[in-house]
Amino acid sequence: MPHNGEATVIGGGLAGCEAAWQLLCRGCRVTLWEMKPERYSPAHSSPGLAELVCSNSLRSGDPHSGAGLLKEEMRRLGSLFMSAADHSSVPAGKSLAVDRRLFSALIEDRLLAWGERFRLVRREVADLPAAPTIVATGPLTSDALAGAIQRLTGRESLYFYDAISPIVTADSVDPTRSFWASRYDQSHAEGAGDYLNCPLDEEAYHAFREEILAADKFPLHGFENPRYFEGCLPMEVLAERGPRALLFGPMKPVGLIDPRTGRQPWAVAQLRQENTSGALLNMVGFQTKLTRPEQERIFRMIPGLARAEFARYGSIHRNTFLNSPGLINDRLQLISHPHLLFAGQLTGVEGYIESAAMGLYAGLSLGRALTGGQLSPPPDTTALGSLIRHITTARKNDFQPMNVNHGLLRPLSLRIKKRERGREYALRSLADLSAWMAAQGIEAAAR
Ligand SMILES: Cc1cc2nc3c(=O)[nH]c(=O)nc-3n(C[C@H](O)[C@H](O)[C@H](O)COP(=O)(O)OP(=O)(O)OC[C@H]3O[C@@H](n4cnc5c(N)ncnc54)[C@H](O)[C@@H]3O)c2cc1C
Repeated sequence: MPHNGEATVIGGGLAGCEAAWQLLCRGCRVTLWEMKPERYSPAHSSPGLAELVCSNSLRSGDPHSGAGLLKEEMRRLGSLFMSAADHSSVPAGKSLAVDRRLFSALIEDRLLAWGERFRLVRREVADLPAAPTIVATGPLTSDALAGAIQRLTGRESLYFYDAISPIVTADSVDPTRSFWASRYDQSHAEGAGDYLNCPLDEEAYHAFREEILAADKFPLHGFENPRYFEGCLPMEVLAERGPRALLFGPMKPVGLIDPRTGRQPWAVAQLRQENTSGALLNMVGFQTKLTRPEQERIFRMIPGLARAEFARYGSIHRNTFLNSPGLINDRLQLISHPHLLFAGQLTGVEGYIESAAMGLYAGLSLGRALTGGQLSPPPDTTALGSLIRHITTARKNDFQPMNVNHGLLRPLSLRIKKRERGREYALRSLADLSAWMAAQGIEAAAR
């Protein structure tokens, strides 16, 4: 792959700017292509680089949370995104929020300060280059480039809408009000089966449906016109179709016998293991546009989920992303065309920080490849490594975007009280990140 240290980055958003920065800090020359202001996606409106399209919050600042830990790791890796965020922060309690104009200006200024090593071309890219390139065009990648990606990866490999069901932590589900079983499993062996089922009686089911119908939902953006597949309808759309519609969809009880009653329940909510450690459970078929507070309130009405902790909330939005597992490797290279790397939301992560983190790692990865080397990914005890592992090894047939959370990290080996786990995750992660950086010869790229 060595190419005289020349790299191309497409997309001057959160991931693209971070990738360009990392490449520059590691001695490469970078051409960054950004289509604004010649052309705007339906959500972008400022000509500046690294535009935050919606909220100005970068979530928790506490390194004992998943989002806070990822941010701290990025700081240690010399992230431009984090440096600009820290220099443009505004008061927001325990969250890190930024002045979005200052944030964007700081990032643009610091990239331009590299002089002739950094070239910014303000034009839309419609084809994938033959030279080493990071594609970071985000959830609203222009149609022409999305078409080019699809031609290369196959129609089934690039999605235009997500359909995200909530994920809860396994240890927050009440085992006395749920049972493991697979549908039509005749064995009825205690604890056997692939699904954790939370049964509802008739009254609880109807009360639940009433709340779903009345709940606050996220409005669609003007540019969103989802034509839902029947197989992944938002649960509230199903609920509107009639009092029993959910019973023929995600809350179908047939083929399940509750061992406590010996009978088929009226309805069930089914949870399925989301990651290899089993720390996370996916609420199967519960994709939704309910607001987050409503998801917490209403889904906790389900017996067994009264104390559920949400690691990911359900959502459905316009979102261009790859079905990454098996398509890109753990250096974020397209396996069939390794000179092309993907970064940001396109890789199947969700959120500002996660997108920037994938830009950071893509920049490190391509920077190493351009000098003839090969980067090994950070361990899955780090927030960064656990995200990379997730997007490259998750189940391919129902892959959906993921935000960073503790459940993705390798479980702690010692039994530790819940309230102390965040601290332990952070201690382990930051020690392992330092060891990984030393082993890979990565210095924090300060400038
Ligand atoms: C409407 C909306 C609201 C969101 N709100 C939030 C939120 O509040 N909080 C949160 O954490 N996440 C949010 N996200 C999710 C996501 O984290 C952000 O979209 C994030 O900016 C993604 O980073 P990125 O670098 O992958 O893409 P972007 O930041 O979108 O950057 C992509 C860049 O590529 C450019 N581009 C696209 N196509 C081409 C092309 N062919 N040639 C050249 N340039 C091109 C675009 O103009 C853009 O500047 C939101 C997403 C959307 C769509």
